[in-house]
Amino acid sequence: MSALLDLPAPPAENAGFNAADFDAAFAVARQRAAAGAYQVSSEALEELLLICPAAELRRRAEILALLAHQYPRVGKLTASARCATEALALAERLSDDILLADALTSQCYVYGQLLMGREALESGMKALAAARRAADPVREAWALNRVGIAYSSLENPVQACASAGQALEIAARTDCAEVLFSCHNNLAYFWLRRVEEARTLGDSAALADAVANARRTADQATTLARRSGSPFQVAVAVSNLVNALLAGGLLDTALPLLNEFGHLAHDHGYRTLAVEADAQRAVFLRLKGEPVQAARILEALLHAATEPPPKLRRLLIRSLYETHKACGQYREALGWLEELVGLDRQISRDNLVLQTEVILIRDQVEQAQARADSAVADARRERARAAHLETEQARLREHAMALDRAAHEDVLTGLHNRRHAEFALPLLVEGARMAGQVISVAALDVDHFKRINDTHGHAVGDAVLQQLAQLLRHRLRSADLMARIGGEEFLAVLVGIAPQQAAEICERLRLAVVEHDWAAITPGLIVRISVGISGGAPLQHQGDSLLNRADQALYAAKRGGRNRVHVD
Ligand code: GH3
Ligand code: MG
Ligand code: MG
Repeated sequence: MSALLDLPAPPAENAGFNAADFDAAFAVARQRAAAGAYQVSSEALEELLLICPAAELRRRAEILALLAHQYPRVGKLTASARCATEALALAERLSDDILLADALTSQCYVYGQLLMGREALESGMKALAAARRAADPVREAWALNRVGIAYSSLENPVQACASAGQALEIAARTDCAEVLFSCHNNLAYFWLRRVEEARTLGDSAALADAVANARRTADQATTLARRSGSPFQVAVAVSNLVNALLAGGLLDTALPLLNEFGHLAHDHGYRTLAVEADAQRAVFLRLKGEPVQAARILEALLHAATEPPPKLRRLLIRSLYETHKACGQYREALGWLEELVGLDRQISRDNLVLQTEVILIRDQVEQAQARADSAVADARRERARAAHLETEQARLREHAMALDRAAHEDVLTGLHNRRHAEFALPLLVEGARMAGQVISVAALDVDHFKRINDTHGHAVGDAVLQQLAQLLRHRLRSADLMARIGGEEFLAVLVGIAPQQAAEICERLRLAVVEHDWAAITPGLIVRISVGISGGAPLQHQGDSLLNRADQALYAAKRGGRNRVHVD
């Protein structure tokens, strides 16, 4: 299949993509396109497409739509079909009516050129609907104009004229000179098709009407083209005007225009138009009564060094047939007619190949689109799964932390629990030993707590434990270990503090307990504590013995009358 199918694949990543530079370059390419420099513009657009990342859906769609619009003008029909179809897929993904209208309008044009009338009509109608949804009259006019081309390729010039006429009315209300010109020009062309039709049918009234309308609209198109300053537009419009004048037998009026058309086409290197201009001159000569000269020109064109493309050859051969028929050379005429039939067969075969190619392109783009969609869906599913796993992990982490807290924390007071103390004490002792620090362990116990419970109730007992825990915690450094190791028993581990200094600290704790406003919990409530202290320079594996000795000191404090601090 054609190399035109292989449009550049988009770079996947955005690395090094500069949107401002890109848009500036795109604007330049657009201006060039508007000025008719289609070759230069489409080359620039191809390069932009190469550097445009895949994720830049809108920018890609805009480039593709503009390429689709221009390619037919440089003879790249299948490339145009591919761009239009890709632009369309992107526009659908973006749900953008303006992009949709552009892509569909280009697609309609290509299909029309490939004589895929029904497809052209379908795309054109969809383009029209999108343009109307977007409330964009310029695009509406373009779409209707292209619907006209679709009808024309369906051999329905009457409907083509009607659509182009509607397009013209809308275009006239906009300030877009290009679409206004195109509408007039197409209308002129469609009226010329009606001239041919009327001539074939031998309907002289219809013929006269069609000729008059063709001339009028071609005249208007020519005026607009001259105003635009585009030599290409002037050439195209004048060519239609000459055809209309020749059809009306106005040979003298046609001649200067024919000359102008020829000069424009040859001077600017519009190759197809140049051949058409020469073929028109042959028609002119035939109508002037110089068929031999006409035939000579046509044959020279037909056998030129670079063979004209099929559609032009068809024009020349048809003209040769008519020329020979006009001067009664029926044998020659028949020969050309046979040639014409053969050529038509070839053209329709070529068209079939192109049509097949275009249908394959559509299929490819649709499949690529489906793949992209499912890749997007996969990615979305993966993301959802990852997010789910992440929250699940966070939940598990939270749960583990809660379990950990529960394992090391006393629920009633928020202090560390006995288990944590048993885990931490040996580490603190060992740390102090290695750092050459002294260490003290204090065992604190509420005096006659059983009595508090009995007198004021268990709830008051709990409140006492909670307030006492707060009080102890606030009066110790945060580095010191403070744990509730039994019902109303607490443990403090003071690193870097000798037993004597620890005794002073604990004495202040004891006094703080004495001075605390326990009656706030319940009237008459009194709370006292006893403290036993052990410590000094730590030895290896000494945690347990320090705790035992602190317990013994506590016991001594109790025996000594309670509400006191005793050092081992
Ligand atoms: P001593 O001065 O000799 O320490 O006397 P005591 O009454 O404080 O000591 P004892 O060990 O006889 O009683 C401790 C009481 O603490 C027994 C128990 O009911 C109570 N207790 C243990 N855990 C809790 C608790 O979580 N909440 C409450 N309210 N009471 C508790
Ligand atoms: Mg007690
Ligand atoms: Mg006790």
